[in-house]
Order: sequence, then structure tokens, then C-alpha cells
Amino acid sequence: MEAPVECDVLVVGAGPAGSSAAAAAARLGAATLLVDAKARIGEQPHCGEFVPKQLFVECGLDRGPVVQSVEVMETCVISLRAQETRKGPSPSSAESVAAVVCGRATQPSPGYLIDRPRFDRDLAREAASVGALILSSVRVTGRAGDAWVMRRKGCEMQVRARLVIAADGALSSVASVLGEPLPEVLRGVQIEAPLVRPLDRTLVYLSREIVGGYGWLFPKGRVANVGLGVVQRRDVNPSSLLDRFVEWLVDAGMIRRGVLARSSGVIPISGPRSPLVKGNVIFCGDAAGLTHPITGAGIAQAVVSGEAAGRSAALALKSNGPEHLDGYEREVLGRYRGVLTHALAKRRLMSRLWDIEDFRTVCGQTWIGFHGYRTRVKSGE
Ligand SMILES: Cc1cc2nc3c(=O)[nH]c(=O)nc-3n(C[C@H](O)[C@H](O)[C@H](O)COP(=O)(O)OP(=O)(O)OC[C@H]3O[C@@H](n4cnc5c(N)ncnc54)[C@H](O)[C@@H]3O)c2cc1C
Repeated sequence: MEAPVECDVLVVGAGPAGSSAAAAAARLGAATLLVDAKARIGEQPHCGEFVPKQLFVECGLDRGPVVQSVEVMETCVISLRAQETRKGPSPSSAESVAAVVCGRATQPSPGYLIDRPRFDRDLAREAASVGALILSSVRVTGRAGDAWVMRRKGCEMQVRARLVIAADGALSSVASVLGEPLPEVLRGVQIEAPLVRPLDRTLVYLSREIVGGYGWLFPKGRVANVGLGVVQRRDVNPSSLLDRFVEWLVDAGMIRRGVLARSSGVIPISGPRSPLVKGNVIFCGDAAGLTHPITGAGIAQAVVSGEAAGRSAALALKSNGPEHLDGYEREVLGRYRGVLTHALAKRRLMSRLWDIEDFRTVCGQTWIGFHGYRTRVKSGE
């Protein structure tokens, strides 16, 4: 076994959080190593690819990965029940009774649909350009004393770092190695399908059958990301639900049949990890549980928290002052705690009401597109 590689900051995971962290740390002079299990950074993303416009302005991101711009989000309350029993070819439009919308709302939601692989690769390239060393095909698997153990193409290597940034996603290996709990997650499944006509908005579909989650149709020019996120329950099969949702959208004249790509992943929904810093390990992005517990959106929080983690790590090392790590927790929670705590309360309310309450009432109280979302959840509700 070779001697462990030494660095100031080890960043595990080169998604939006990890690459932003590595860039911030390296820019401030920390010797930074960024590792990712994937052979090619950004490959096989599991993502609806919607990002708020504000993120690009705030973080000065390059618009290269932008595919389409949208200004509004439309929410539709539907029922997928008709697809459950239907067999055989699609019915004629006269028979197409399934595609009924029983509630609708539109709200401003300015954003971009991005090419996520390119977005991730651009962030990693930026980290490399300011001096971070990036190693792909490296999976962190454990610890040996104070060194982190990783596997690369069948070989083991060890890295000893003064600080570690865990940016390895919802099911963080770093958290597991430290014996930290993993979050409750939604399972997300998605296809890319051809659109019948281009769309100028994102569409969200709420249906009692999409338990604890929602379906989405996010346009990208002539194609769209069509997916759904659902709670993990024995009686819920995400793939067959997606098939029914796709049929519904075909019936509704939104998409054509044809799967151009397929992906799946998990979305953490139990709110921020506590604490965000454990010993010399700083959690950010999905690994920190910063994803919105109702919408599942997490790219913006990943970039922002990653940058804060990298900057705080480098400053803490420079000054030998752990207060920069406390500052990280304060900065990130100061920014997101209010929004995420409210969303978490709404998710718990949603779980209690989903199977028993009138569905439109559930949606009205718990989906961000409806006014009732803003009302606070009273204790005991
Ligand atoms: C189906 C689906 C659709 C989504 N749609 C949207 C959307 O439209 N908009 C939005 O804002 N959010 C969306 N999200 C959430 C968004 O994808 C995440 O919030 C975001 O990717 C978090 O970034 P991250 O850098 O924290 O983690 P990730 O992007 O998950 O990156 C983690 C990285 O760590 C690496 N890694 C994991 N384990 C190890 C290990 N042991 N060793 C080394 N490397 C490791 C992985 O290879 C990966 O590259 C969606 C999620 C899903 C599942």
C-alpha cells in the first residue's frame, strides 16, 4: 500500500455542490483534491434540469448550458386512475376521457432548462482552472485511521486531508462511513420525450396516484423531461406510474410516444442535516439535505452551499480558526432554514392528509403553486 496522498481539502463528489466547493477552496489557495465515482463528470445525471434564473445572476454562471428560458410554472391537478386499467393501443381522441384536469394554477417561476451534463462539466472545469486537482472513477469507500480510503479502477488509494467536504449526494457515502443517518427520500424516474409543440412554461401535475410527489413536464426546445417523484412505499411502483403518466400526456396531446433517454435517482426530503459540520467534515448540497422537501429542487442550494463550504474551509485553514466552519453553518442555515422548515412542515401535513382528505384540499394546502401553501402549519394539524 502506497503512503496516503496529502491535501488541504478533499472534496468528495463532483456534482454542482462539489465542483463549486473545490473552485472556492482552490481560489483561496487551498491544495484541493476533488474526487468523483463517475468515469466522466456530469454523465448520467438524474435531473429535471430546471434552475432558477436568479442562480445564474447571483453566482455569475456562464449561460452556455442554457437550453430554454421559461417565466411561469403551471400546476394541473389530474387523475391517472383511467390509465391503470387501460390495455392495448391508445384510444381515439373521442375515447380520450382520461386527460381531464380538475384544477389549475399559474405562478411566476423564471428559470432556465439546462443541459445538466454540460452544467456540471463547466463547474468542474472552473474548479480545475483555479488549481483543484480532479480525479474521476474514484469512489470513497471507508476510512483507515485519519485517512479516507477510495477505490480507483480496482486499486485502493488513501487520502489524508485537513478538511473534507462531503458533496456526494443524497445517499452520502461519507455520512455512512461516519455513521451519520441518511435522509428520507423520494424516488425520481424520468424520460426524455418529443414534444407535440414547443412550450413556454414548466408544467407540474398533481395526482393522488403519484403518492407524496408530483409529475413534471419540463420543456427543452423540441423535447421535454417527463418525470415524477414518489415516496418509497410497497404499493407504489415508480416505473409503472411513469408509464401511466406518459400515456396521460400523450392523450392530452402534450408529447409524442418515444423515449429518447431514461434516468432515475433519489431526492432527499427530510430537511437539513444537523449539524452541517461534523469534526473536520463539512456537508453541502444534497449530502447536507438542502433540497426543497416539496419541490425536490436542489441545484441552486448545491451551488450556493458548495461555494460557502469551499470558502469557509480555505479560510479556516488559513487562519487556523474553526469559527469559519461555524460561520458556514450560520450562513447556509440563515439563508435556507426558514424556507426548508416551512416546506418540511408542509410535507408532514401532506403525508398525514394524502390518503384521507379530498385531494384538491391536500394540493391547495401543500403545493407551492397554491395560496394555501403560504399558511403556517399549526401544531397538531
Ligand atoms: C429525477 C430527479 C429530478 C430532479 N430535478 C431537479 C430539477 O429540475 N431542478 C433542481 O434544482 N433539482 C432537481 N433535482 C435535484 C438535484 O438533482 C440535486 O439537488 C442536485 O444534483 C444536488 O447536487 P449535489 O452536487 O449535492 O449532488 P449530486 O448532483 O448528486 O452529485 C453527487 C456526486 O457525488 C458522486 N459520488 C457519490 N458517491 C460517491 C462516492 N462514494 N465517492 C465519490 N463520488 C461519489 C456522484 O457520482 C455525483 O457526481 C432532481 C433530482 C432527481 C433525482
